[in-house]
Amino acid sequence: MPSTDNTSTPVFNLLNALGHQKVVFCNDPDTGLKAIIAIHNTTLGPALGGTRMWTYKSEQDALTDALRLSKSMTYKAAINGLNLGGGSAVIMGDPRRDKTEAMMRRLGRFIKNLNGEYITAEDMGTNTRDMEYIRMETEHVTGVPETIGGSGDPTPIAAKGVFMGIKASVKEMFGTDTLAGRSVIVQGIGHVGENLVKLLREENTKVYVSDINEERLVQVAKKYGAEAIANNTIFDVPADIYAPCALGATINSRTIDKLQCAIIAGSANNQLEDENIHGHMLLEKGILYAPDYVINAGGLINCYSELMGFSKKRTLQLTENIYNATRNILKLSKAENISTIEAANKIAEKRISDIKKVKSSY
Ligand code: NAD
Repeated sequence: MPSTDNTSTPVFNLLNALGHQKVVFCNDPDTGLKAIIAIHNTTLGPALGGTRMWTYKSEQDALTDALRLSKSMTYKAAINGLNLGGGSAVIMGDPRRDKTEAMMRRLGRFIKNLNGEYITAEDMGTNTRDMEYIRMETEHVTGVPETIGGSGDPTPIAAKGVFMGIKASVKEMFGTDTLAGRSVIVQGIGHVGENLVKLLREENTKVYVSDINEERLVQVAKKYGAEAIANNTIFDVPADIYAPCALGATINSRTIDKLQCAIIAGSANNQLEDENIHGHMLLEKGILYAPDYVINAGGLINCYSELMGFSKKRTLQLTENIYNATRNILKLSKAENISTIEAANKIAEKRISDIKKVKSSY
């Protein structure tokens, strides 16, 4: 996935560069909704991806995020064997201050008008309650509360997938997948981050936590016996694993030199600012990068299970399989001396192209 940083690039050039099918700009002055829905690729099935609400500095930043997120959803579904395409929605605004029932329901109306081409779920800045509001307007939403027939909060299963990806990476790097005695920095202890801290501490892993929300930082550190570190010092603390669980693009030319970890494996989407440049830099530096879209697929798997009517046991099996999916990518990366993200892309693109042929054959 090439970088989309060029703010002067015309929109259709961006869509062509990343291979997007459709982008919908949703504007509703009555509710204050300004959202972008990006549909990347629907070869394997309807585009599924979360709704993110964030204080974007500019409309360009919001568009870039929607494009990058939706593309990674296509790859995430493909590599994990799901029959889904990639999509995403972003809302411009502060979730703590600006979000209302009316705004979420208005977004639901826009999603309804897409007739199932896009199905949403929660992401950063949104939660199951918001999904319930969207459900009031459209059926094309997953991750609604269990009490109204959904699969509920997908974040514990998302964290479980990341945990399996960490284990697979530790096995590759250290020869055993036991986490006791290893150290992990979890950057961002929101919904997924907190659940990951819980799983890591249950295996007696030394955990450092950081978050821009000071109150939450103190609370989570105390609850799980983790060590709180200031957000601006995370690269000064040596640890076996760096787990980015907040925003993307934290792996870039400014941070790679500072990294003191052996493994990068976390939940954040699009961790590499530019996957070609930074994927290679990590390969050369000998840092194992567990591709984000592979190991953070637990939430998507949960949503897929909800759509397909799968049992919780099946959801867990599919999520635990992230261990094998990660191992396969790491093996291919080693065998062909390519970056781990290149290896993952190769496997995902092959599945999309194979299924495209199947679908065009009848
Ligand atoms: P969340 O909003 O619950 O948590 C994000 C946390 O990161 C918050 O506590 C926030 O204060 C903190 N944060 C923001 N900027 C930070 C910074 N610069 N440094 C440190 N902390 C910072 O979001 P979430 O649902 O836990 O998702 C976290 C990441 O995982 C996102 O990138 C999301 O796209 C990805 N993800 C989420 C899911 C899911 O099911 N929610 C699934 C897969 C991937």
